[in-house]
Amino acid sequence: MTYSLPQRDTPLALVVDDELSLRLSMSAALSKAGFEVIEAENGRDALALFQSHTPDLVLLDVLMPEMDGFETCSAIRKMPEGQYVQILMVTGLDDSDSIEYAFEVGANDFVAKPLNWVMLGHRGRYMLRAGRAFQELNSSERRLAKTQELAKLGNWEFDLINDSFYCAPEACRLLGLDDERHVTYNEFLDTVISSERKRVKQQIDVAIQSAKSFSVHYRVMFPDGVFHHILNRGEILFNENGIAEMVLGAVQDVTQLKHAEEEIRRLAFYDGLTGLANRILFMDRLDYEITSAKLNSGCFALLFLDLDQFKRINDTCGHYIGDLLLKKVSETLQTCICSSDTASGPVTDILDALIARFGGDEFIILLPDISEPEKAALVAQRILHEMPKTHHIDGHDISVTTSIGISVYPADGEKSEVLLKHADSAMYHAKETGRNNYQFYEESLNVAVLERFSLEQDIKGALKREEFLLYYQPQIDLTSHKILGAEALIRWIHPQKGMIPPDKFIPIAEESGLILEINKWVIQTACNQNMVWKKAGLGPVRIAVNLSGYQLVKQNIIKVIRDALQEADLDAKCLEIEITENIFMQDSEDTVWILREMKDLGLRIALDDFGTGYSSLNYLTSFPVDVIKIDRSFVMGIPELKNNLVIIKTIIAMGHSLGMKIVAEGIETEEQLALLLEFGADEGQGCYFSRPVPQDKFIRFLQEDSL
Ligand code: C2E
Ligand code: MG
Ligand code: MG
Repeated sequence: MTYSLPQRDTPLALVVDDELSLRLSMSAALSKAGFEVIEAENGRDALALFQSHTPDLVLLDVLMPEMDGFETCSAIRKMPEGQYVQILMVTGLDDSDSIEYAFEVGANDFVAKPLNWVMLGHRGRYMLRAGRAFQELNSSERRLAKTQELAKLGNWEFDLINDSFYCAPEACRLLGLDDERHVTYNEFLDTVISSERKRVKQQIDVAIQSAKSFSVHYRVMFPDGVFHHILNRGEILFNENGIAEMVLGAVQDVTQLKHAEEEIRRLAFYDGLTGLANRILFMDRLDYEITSAKLNSGCFALLFLDLDQFKRINDTCGHYIGDLLLKKVSETLQTCICSSDTASGPVTDILDALIARFGGDEFIILLPDISEPEKAALVAQRILHEMPKTHHIDGHDISVTTSIGISVYPADGEKSEVLLKHADSAMYHAKETGRNNYQFYEESLNVAVLERFSLEQDIKGALKREEFLLYYQPQIDLTSHKILGAEALIRWIHPQKGMIPPDKFIPIAEESGLILEINKWVIQTACNQNMVWKKAGLGPVRIAVNLSGYQLVKQNIIKVIRDALQEADLDAKCLEIEITENIFMQDSEDTVWILREMKDLGLRIALDDFGTGYSSLNYLTSFPVDVIKIDRSFVMGIPELKNNLVIIKTIIAMGHSLGMKIVAEGIETEEQLALLLEFGADEGQGCYFSRPVPQDKFIRFLQEDSL
C-alpha cells in the first residue's frame, strides 16, 4: 500500500529531544518559520505521536535514553505513513560514521549541534518542499506505471553507442520475460515467434539505418502456448552530428484489439448463421479468380445451389427450423468439398474451393483451377448424392432436395456478374427439369457430361462383357529391322459406339478407380498372349504394357505381375512396363520402391512419351529406368522442325550416357527412320513398320520374322 502525506495549510513538525531546553528552542525556531509544532521527549513517545498526528517533518535527536534517534528513525520509516515524511537528524556527533548510519536508517538530512536557530527554520521549510516534490514525482511515476499496465504498454531503450539495452519491467511482462533480470537486446528480439523474427529484426534495422520511426506487429508465444499479439513502436534519437545514438521504443499487447479485428472481419465477411463466406467475400474472391485465370489461361466453375421449395419448409415449420436446416445443408456442402476421400478423383482439384451463402437458401461454390468442366459435374453429382434425403431436425423429418446451376469461366462469361447470372439461370433450368439435378449453362456441356458419365457406366461392365482387346504394335531393331517385341495397346469395342481409343476412356477409368482392374487385365492378357506365341515356337518375344500410374501405390501391382508371369510360365525378361513421367509427381518414395521391386523381378522399365511431361533429369538419375521412349510428337515433326531434331539428338545422347536404350515412337517415313538411325536411336515403332494390329496379324509378322 502507498501512502501520501496529508495536505495541510500549516505544516506540522514533531520535535524529539530528551533535553527540554533544546526542545523548546527548536520548537520556537520552527514556529517562527511557520510550522505548527508538537514535541516528544523520547523515541517511544515520538512513535506514538507520529502515528496519531502524521507530521510533515521530524527533528530527531540522536542521543536519547531508551530508544535512540537511529532506532526511532528506522521505526518511523517502517510505518506506512512514514514513507514520505522528512526526517532531520540532530546529532552531537559530527563523526562521519554516525552521519552515514543516519542516512542508512532513512534520515533525509542531518544537522550538528550547536544549532543555528535561524538556519534550522529555513532548512525545515526547504526539506518540506523537497519532500513534496519527491512525493509528487513518486506518485506520478506510480500513476504512469499503472496507466502503462492498464494500456498493456511497456517501454524499452537501446543505447546504440554503448550497446546497452534496458527493458522496463512492464515490457518484460508483456513479452513473457522474467522482469527481475537484466534482459539483452537479442533476448528481447528472440521473444518474437521464429517464423516472424527475421522480418521484425529487418524492419527495426532498416528503421535505424534510414533514421525513421517504426511500427512493427508480431506475435510472441508464452510458456502456456498462448500467442500474444504485440505492437512494437519506436523512434531513433540522434546526436548533434546526426549519428543515431538511441532507440526509444514501446511494446504494447494488442491481443484483444486483434481479436476484436478478427471478430469484425468475421462479421463483415462471413455469414452469421452458417459461418460460410458471405456475398462480399465471395465477390472479392471471384474477382481475384478471374484475374488469376486470365493470367494463367485457367478455367474455373461456379456452382449455384438453391434448395427446392425451401419457402414451404419455412412457412410450415417456422424460421427456427428453417435456420437449422440451412446449417445442416452448409455442413454437408463443407464435407462434400473438403472430404479427403481420395477415391473420388476431383478432390485434389478442389482444395481451394470457396463455399458461400448468398442469401436465403442460395449457396454458391467456386471451384478454382479445374482442368475440365466435367470436374464441376462430378462435384455437383457428389453434392446431390451426399445431401441427405431426410433431415431430422428438432423432432421434424424434413425432406429437401437441391437444384444446381453451373457456369464455367471463360466459356460462359469473363465477368463476375455474367458468370453469376448464367449459373443462376442454369439453376432455374435445373428446377424446370424436375429439381434435384444439376445443369450447365452451356447446353453442349450437359451433353458432353452425360456422354462421359454414360461411358463411365459402360466401362464398369466392359471387363465382364469382354469388350476390351489388346492390339500389338511391333517394336523393331532399327539396324537389323528384326522384330524385338510388341507394345500392347488396349482397344474397347463398345457394343453401340464401336471402337473407342484409349485416350478417350483411360482418363475416365482412372477417375472412377476402374483402372486398377484394367491394368490387371492388360498385364494378364499380355502375358497369356506371350505364352501362346512361345508355345507356337515364336519368340522369345518381349511385350511392353502401358501401366497407368494413377494411384500406383494402391494397386498391389507387384503381386499382379508376379502372378501373371507365373501363370503364363513366362520369363520376366519378356515383359516390359511403360510408365509416364506424371507417375513421379505422386509420392515419389513409394514409387521408387515399387519400380525397384519391378527391377528385382527382372522387368524392363520404359519411360513413355518422354519430353512431353516434366522431363526432369532428376527422375532419370534417381529412378531405375532402362529405356527412354521419345514421344511421337517429336518424331512426327522431323525433318521439317529443326528444334525437334535438336531435342531428339539431345535425348539420345543423354539417354545413352546414362546407359539407357532409346526407342523412337511414331516413325512414319523412311526419312525419319534414316535420321533416327543416324542419331543413334536403338529401337523404333510406328506406321512405317506397322500400325497396332490384332494378335492374329501380329503372329504372321512373327512367323515372317521381319517387316
Ligand atoms: P502410347 O503408349 O504412347 O502409345 C503409342 C500410341 O501411338 C498408340 O496410340 C499408337 O496407336 C500410336 N501410334 C503408333 N504408331 C504411330 C504412328 O506412326 N503415328 C502416329 N501418329 N501414332 C502412332 P493409342 O493406341 O491410341 O494409345 C494412346 C495412348 O493410350 C498410349 O500412348 C498409352 O499412353 C495409352 N494406352 C494404350 N493402351 C493402354 C493400356 O493398355 N493401358 C493404359 N494404362 N494405357 C494405354
Ligand atoms: Mg506406350
Ligand atoms: Mg508413347
